[in-house]
Amino acid sequence: MDYQALAELLFPNVTQTPEDLEEKYPARQVSEGAVITRMAPSPTGFVHLGNLVQGLISERMAHQSGGVLFLRVEDTDAKREVPGAVEVLIDTLRHYGIHFDEGATMDGDAGNYGPYRQRQRADIYHVYAKKLVSQGQAYPCFCTEEELAAMREKQEQAKETTGYYGPYALWRDRSLEEIREQLSAGKSWVLRFRSTGSIENQFKFDDLVKGKLTITENNVDHVLLKSDGIPTYHFAHAVDDHLMRTTHVVRGDEWLATLPFHIQLFKALDFKLPKYVHIGPLMKMDGNSKRKLSKRKDPELALTYYKAEGFPVEAVYEYIMTLLNSNFEDWRRANPDAPTDSFKFSPKKLNPAGSLFDYAKLTDVSKNVISRMDAEKVYALLKEWAVEFDPDFGAKLAVAPAYATRILAIGRGGKKPRKDLAVWKDAKPYMGFFYDEYLQAPVFDEKFDAALIRDVLSRFLESFDITDDSAIWFEKVKKIAVDIGFTTDMKAYKADPAAFPGTVADVSTFIRQAVTGQTNSPDLYTVMQILGKDRTVERIQKTIASLGGFQ
Ligand code: GLU
Repeated sequence: MDYQALAELLFPNVTQTPEDLEEKYPARQVSEGAVITRMAPSPTGFVHLGNLVQGLISERMAHQSGGVLFLRVEDTDAKREVPGAVEVLIDTLRHYGIHFDEGATMDGDAGNYGPYRQRQRADIYHVYAKKLVSQGQAYPCFCTEEELAAMREKQEQAKETTGYYGPYALWRDRSLEEIREQLSAGKSWVLRFRSTGSIENQFKFDDLVKGKLTITENNVDHVLLKSDGIPTYHFAHAVDDHLMRTTHVVRGDEWLATLPFHIQLFKALDFKLPKYVHIGPLMKMDGNSKRKLSKRKDPELALTYYKAEGFPVEAVYEYIMTLLNSNFEDWRRANPDAPTDSFKFSPKKLNPAGSLFDYAKLTDVSKNVISRMDAEKVYALLKEWAVEFDPDFGAKLAVAPAYATRILAIGRGGKKPRKDLAVWKDAKPYMGFFYDEYLQAPVFDEKFDAALIRDVLSRFLESFDITDDSAIWFEKVKKIAVDIGFTTDMKAYKADPAAFPGTVADVSTFIRQAVTGQTNSPDLYTVMQILGKDRTVERIQKTIASLGGFQ
């Protein structure tokens, strides 16, 4: 077979050579050890936690080593593409602090190794396709869908491995004449790789996460170009990652199955193989067993979920770090205020089996992250969230920034900051009572008579002075307890509750409920200071009235 003639027959318009492309996309001038890597998502419109994990690993590896992170859009599957998906993707990743040095952007491409959208690279793939054909390493296959389906059925019946290989590789050794005939009849074709591998052979391979792997050679003549001339993932991966000078490929371990083919392809194309970082899936506990997070069953897989719940970006980022590198948490404890990117991330510490996603743990991390922020930052982030997801609350926050910031400053700073907020959604239940429209009527413990509660509240009003300091304020509350026969000795009360009609804690709770509508609130003295004299008094009077007082 004259492979050169076949190459000309299939790709008459390809005039560029691999050498031309090598020249156009030269080796990058980076320092030794710099990692050049990429994110290569398909624009399906759904950005999930797995994308973020992969992005974060890639970003850290690139930027920690003084390398380059670029974004390549894998849009070869036009059927799955959703309009606007690339923009959503870029925007979401940026929101999570993943910045690209080059690649696809909101408006076109940036960088010298583009185009960065695969559908715009057809000419480039064809240069290498032609080369493979001219070397006898690729050939056209004219099998129809029906023929392939029939073949598959036959293989299944015979309990053989399915696929296009060995005797089933029907177009592997056809003559130039036969091929010419099909072409002139206008038959559609795909380009297949001519595999020389055998499943009898195995070889060793080193993956940065999975460690030493024993790999069986590939014997399948996989498709390189589909009938529309667009490459499969495999072919595009080899060509793009070579020409874009990728040194490390970070991707999901579902690609391990076709890794033998990728290795073969890089060799056939005379490309240097990049290093691979195959990451395990994200899993969760479902009852007593682990399973992969699923798009259908788990809303928490979608990144939009975290935004809508109101997890700060930093919290999601920190949580993923704790998932990926088990020493991150110790580091954070030792360096509570250090920027996250001063942590030395290591891909070697990734769990080869994947990571177990734990929502409760994420919530914990988030509480810590928020507790370390200053009130101004909490205000800014909360307002931004509320304006989008709870506009009424958002408007209230926006209208009086100083007031909201004062509220959010309660219990902040110091060694043991309060940890009331895990997500911005928690803020309204926590602080809503500061806004009169959100104040709820208190529901008192039925154990106590309305008259007793009224009495406590009236006594409080009588002695209330907004200028008191917190010690005097509390002495006054204690005095009320004593005057009505409630104990201030909590130890004695715990030992024998039946011996006392109530305690100073009950007195505080009555007052707290009258002022905030709830049994839990941040420090009540401070709450009153922020509400001010008039609103505090007014709320207590209103409660007294609702309990049948002032009639
Ligand atoms: N488009 C592929 C995916 O989304 C990219 C895999 C890779 O990073 O090579 O799985």
